[in-house]
Amino acid sequence: MTEVKPQCIPYGRHQIDDEDVAAVVDVLRSDWLTTGPAVRKLESHLADVAGADEAVALNSGSAALHAAMAACGIDPGDEVIVPAITFASTANAILHRAGVPVFADIDADTLLIDCNRIDACITPKTRAIICVDYAGQPCDYRELQEIAKHHNIPLVADACHSLGGSYNDQPVGGLADITTFSFHPVKVITTGEGGAITTNNGDWARSARSFRNHGLNLDHSERHSQQTYHYDMVDLGFNYRLSDIGCALGLSQLTKLSAFVDQRRILASEYHRLLADVPGIEPLARRTDRSSAWHLFVVRVQNDAGKTRDQVFAEMRKQGIGVNVHYLPVYLHQYYRQTLGFKKGLCPVAEAMYEQILSLPLFPSLQLSDVHYVVDCLKRALNSK
Ligand SMILES: *Cc1c(COP(=O)(O)O)cnc(C)c1O
Repeated sequence: MTEVKPQCIPYGRHQIDDEDVAAVVDVLRSDWLTTGPAVRKLESHLADVAGADEAVALNSGSAALHAAMAACGIDPGDEVIVPAITFASTANAILHRAGVPVFADIDADTLLIDCNRIDACITPKTRAIICVDYAGQPCDYRELQEIAKHHNIPLVADACHSLGGSYNDQPVGGLADITTFSFHPVKVITTGEGGAITTNNGDWARSARSFRNHGLNLDHSERHSQQTYHYDMVDLGFNYRLSDIGCALGLSQLTKLSAFVDQRRILASEYHRLLADVPGIEPLARRTDRSSAWHLFVVRVQNDAGKTRDQVFAEMRKQGIGVNVHYLPVYLHQYYRQTLGFKKGLCPVAEAMYEQILSLPLFPSLQLSDVHYVVDCLKRALNSK
């Protein structure tokens, strides 16, 4: 009997409960919809969870990356190393500072930045390395810290996938010099739109707080508590503030972080178990010294699968499975090719892996029976005429 699912199973979705709703309603009835007490509360809780001295809330993961680039002093012409496979936002943050992204190739088994290829990307103009915890699995932070220290440049972690993950039992958030998070609804926790940075560098945290508020030296609540109307604009900044509405939701979501990650881990294990005997379908490698936050469950549709990734994608979409592809190597986007002059062939591993990768549905409210259903659909897609 063929099961019929009435609705498409998406690749990811948020999980909101009555507590989350109540937390938001409380703020809506309070005096502060933005720049109020929920902001510092979220920041202090997030800093604890991330094992960092400071957290700064921002209104997207992209704003967090932009603030991180500004905090560590990326200026026009500065080069920043970034992995070829990531969301465009990671590399765009460099461009927003008029910096130059230098794409490093990735490891084929994990899709994480290949530490062995970073040295070849270093020049006298290199000012930072951004690594990306792709799919939720932390990078090799010991190796990356060593490389960054050797060249005396900061290591920036794009941890938009990996809140709740850890490396050698140390939580993501304190593993790099500055770490960025996203709270978009498909990510591990959500504030609707939102993001944050964490760091142990007090100057960088101060810089990010000013950057998110037009470069002003005092924000609204600081002026309120100091009984002053004075402020000075000491730098050029943006309105990158996360509202108290979002922060309250984030705080409530953060209390459920480990439950969300546990549930994702259970579902991922079931995928691994069921996919072990599906020829040509290879989940990404898991490294034993770290624990993933399982933002995405990515498989490679290898050459011996009998179908291409695009064929499997189309067949599964037809069956109502919201499979996806994360991501086109950033430099192959039209803007990077036509406006910035990047060319195909720059990162051969990333380009080859891009042809194979497929993200299967994974989110906390997905059921084990859904995982079985998705794998059945995958097998049907592989065996279709
Ligand atoms: C989601 C994401 C971002 C951007 O986050 P937004 O909150 O959508 O701005 C950046 N980098 C990676 C790797 C992401 O997955």
